[in-house]
Amino acid sequence: MTARVLIVDDMLANLKLLEARLTAEYFTVQTASNGADALETCSQDLPDVILLDVMMPGMDGFEVCRRLKSDLRTQHVPVVMVTALDQPSDLLQGLEAGADDFLTKPVNDLALITRVKNLARLKLLTDEMLMRANTEEQMGNAASLGEGVFSAGGTGRILLVEDREGAASRIIGALKPDNDVVHMTGPEQALLLAPCEDFDLLIVSLNLQDADGLRLCSQLRSLDRTRHLPIMIVVEPGEEARLHRGLDMGVNDYVVRPVNTGELLARVRTQVKRKRYSDYLRSRLEQTVELAVLDPLTGLHNRRYLSTHLETLFEESAQRGRALSVLLIDVDHFKCINDTYGHDVGDDVLRELALRLRRNIRGIDLACRLGGEEFVVVMPDTSIESAFLVGERLRQCIATTPFIAGAQHKAVNVTASMGVAALEYEEDTPGLILKRADQALYCAKRDGRNRVVADAA
Ligand code: GH3
Ligand code: MG
Ligand code: MG
Repeated sequence: MTARVLIVDDMLANLKLLEARLTAEYFTVQTASNGADALETCSQDLPDVILLDVMMPGMDGFEVCRRLKSDLRTQHVPVVMVTALDQPSDLLQGLEAGADDFLTKPVNDLALITRVKNLARLKLLTDEMLMRANTEEQMGNAASLGEGVFSAGGTGRILLVEDREGAASRIIGALKPDNDVVHMTGPEQALLLAPCEDFDLLIVSLNLQDADGLRLCSQLRSLDRTRHLPIMIVVEPGEEARLHRGLDMGVNDYVVRPVNTGELLARVRTQVKRKRYSDYLRSRLEQTVELAVLDPLTGLHNRRYLSTHLETLFEESAQRGRALSVLLIDVDHFKCINDTYGHDVGDDVLRELALRLRRNIRGIDLACRLGGEEFVVVMPDTSIESAFLVGERLRQCIATTPFIAGAQHKAVNVTASMGVAALEYEEDTPGLILKRADQALYCAKRDGRNRVVADAA
């Protein structure tokens, strides 16, 4: 992940330390040594995440945060407060000022990287919401996208798996005013419930007495219905190895015992927002009555929307040095399907394909029907290698399960060929990237179909 991080601290040594750690993780770093400079930097060029020291001469971190959060231009940039003392009052004051998370000095490496990554991901989604609003406006649809979701974030629906009574009531107490919490003491029921209910976040203790919380995490990650469910784990201090394992298997965030209410609230808020924004971007398709941007058969965005939005995404990615990949999909021998089963079955196959497509991509990805049996998925912040893996997963999901289509519920075997290309060159344009994806798709067809080919560039 590439993101721009602005570090604000009055001590040069602190700036250097954090800068070195973040640069080592390939983040782009800017620095400012006081509040006024930080605000000035933001007014010129918005960072993706801000690390803000609380104790600074002149304007303190709380005040800087308040100003950032009350300015329309900067309000969506996530702020992490870096405090010398983990005073509960500091955290409360930070939350009130609008802080999105906290780090305590001396800053722990894993905590730093986890905080920044989570907030950079949230920022990516936020940017995507804003850009789509922009595209829709350009296309004459003035309906204000995202306003509701931005302002509310809403009540989070949280599933808590914790078998210690004291710890559970402490967590529930902290979350209660803003969230609905369903509490369970063991992973078995959670594993049954999570795929059926619409939770925004799962919080799991890694210190369950007769069960392994990490196992639950890995099971939920591999289920279709819960693949996108954010997971937070609760760990004892010093459980570094298991914590690393959890994060490696896709756990999104963690809190260390004794659980600090302010930290917990901030992190829960971030995960709930991410889930909400992501769901919102997916469901936007169903809500957009503006048919001019949608394909009537599949409900996906259409070619016209793609050309406008890809332009915006491309500009943003090129300017920020972010990855951008495109996956082009063409059903194999679709004409045969029509000829064998009839046009109605063909239509059903296209509808079902669109569904499988949507289930296999993130909310931030844009799926469009280009026309006929051709589809495209645009993936921001995604390398060509990752895009290839998405394509491969999708290819399997299409090829391995027959499509049930038509009035007679015919089981139709379908395969598709795909080409992947990414933003690579100084002189790239959206058209050139699509063209390379098309050439890769051509190779996939030529080499026997039912395969994914990445542009060799
Ligand atoms: P290939 O593996 O080379 O892609 O072969 P193909 O048969 O899929 O490709 P071709 O481009 O020759 O045929 C595409 C067919 O898709 C022709 C057209 O009649 C059909 N088609 C286009 N739009 C629709 C549609 O909306 N519904 C249905 N049922 N068929 C469509
Ligand atoms: Mg075709
Ligand atoms: Mg085809």
